[in-house]
Amino acid sequence: LVQLYIPLNFMGMLYREIKQALIDIDDMFKVLERNPEIEDKPDARPLHITQGIVRFEDVHFAYNPEREILKGVSFEVPAGQTIAIVGPSGAGKSTISRLLFRFYEPSSGRILIDGQDISDVQQASLRKAIGMVPQDTVLFNDTIGYNVQYGRWDAAAEEVKEAARLAQIDRFIGYLPEGYETPVGERGLKLSGGEKQRVAIARTILKGPPVLVLDEATSALDSFTEKEIQDALDRVSRGRTTLVIAHRLSTIIGADEIIVLDHGQIVERGTHTGLLASGGVYAAMWNRQREAEKARETLKRTEEEE
Ligand code: ATP
Repeated sequence: LVQLYIPLNFMGMLYREIKQALIDIDDMFKVLERNPEIEDKPDARPLHITQGIVRFEDVHFAYNPEREILKGVSFEVPAGQTIAIVGPSGAGKSTISRLLFRFYEPSSGRILIDGQDISDVQQASLRKAIGMVPQDTVLFNDTIGYNVQYGRWDAAAEEVKEAARLAQIDRFIGYLPEGYETPVGERGLKLSGGEKQRVAIARTILKGPPVLVLDEATSALDSFTEKEIQDALDRVSRGRTTLVIAHRLSTIIGADEIIVLDHGQIVERGTHTGLLASGGVYAAMWNRQREAEKARETLKRTEEEE
């Protein structure tokens, strides 16, 4: 029996590795728009994380040579702090996160993590150090448990459950017909945007990366879901260097620094209260969002009264 068990066990491992590799490829090309042209340098070394300080130094970038998207962006996220990037659609916010993952290379300038230029380190080690909660999470056609476990394959079942609890998705899973074994994704149960995002948060909690990128969903969530997700995000970002690509300003009031990006340039930076007091672009964006929210509430109230 032992003789049979060993090869079976090995095949199980192999199957898992192959499946993982296929998912990784899928993940990189489809989900994360990886650019396969970027390769490790021959002498690339693993990224060595000491504190998790992220630094952009005069970064310029263009997808096409005729149109520059980032025009000299510099900022530093100190270890364990949260920086939020806000600005109009198309300003280049998500591009910053793509460059941090090295899906693209800056045309000039440098991106450093703990003093190491990310173009000099092994890409696998870079991606291992960064956790990403994307705008729109793609679930694998597998069980919901598998989708959370994807964050870290060697996590014990208890750790998976704890991550789900912290991400506030455990109760939802508890109500599913087969619990953690319920198939999800295109061929299984379809989850809502908010549920998918919480699965992504659970995955990231399990992965436990020192650096975190949160690309906030643009789509409106109901206020209860939004609060739950915000709580889960706050929990996952505590003590980690975090870059938030924000669409709703209400979610980033507590950020250590807010950077306002417009047409690929930083036009303002400061804390929420500081930026409001200075009465510039951020204050105008804040007022516009508040008015839009008020108008939506009034409309909802009148509809309810009718
Ligand atoms: P949003 O708030 O709408 O998500 P954003 O500030 O995150 O916007 P980016 O996604 O960084 O903006 O895009 C910045 C600009 O780069 C946009 O004008 C966009 O059309 C362009 N762009 C984005 N991805 C590509 C690409 N793969 N090829 C060419 N241009 C691109």
